[in-house]
Amino acid sequence: MTELSRIKPPMGDDNAWWWQQAALGKLVIQRCQQCQTLRHPPHPMCNQCRSMEWDFIEACGRGHLHTYTVLHNPRFPGYQYPITIAVVDLEEGERIVSQLVDCERDAVTIGMPLQMHMQEDADGFKLPVFRPVV
Ligand code: ZN
Repeated sequence: MTELSRIKPPMGDDNAWWWQQAALGKLVIQRCQQCQTLRHPPHPMCNQCRSMEWDFIEACGRGHLHTYTVLHNPRFPGYQYPITIAVVDLEEGERIVSQLVDCERDAVTIGMPLQMHMQEDADGFKLPVFRPVV
């Protein structure tokens, strides 16, 4: 039986570079080169100083659960349901929407420490997800 692959996220001029870093196993955060403000998700202009010059830093991968929801539907191919969708406060100060894995639903608590894990699908697609720190 062939496992269906997940639908890939849109990758355009403003965010393809982020997915290229994920493919290398890195969770990165865009940084304004003018005022050093971090921003996520990626976008072309700094909302603090309007500079369009940017680079990025590699996140340490540690964070805390800010909030979450459990997704039962709609069901797309390539995912195992239910999915715990997590908003994670990264140690660097930015937030990322991701998936909480390897955690029983009853054990999920707001504020719990998390660690990023680069999940690799059968087709090689890499996606940063988070696990509880034990
Ligand atoms: Zn700036």
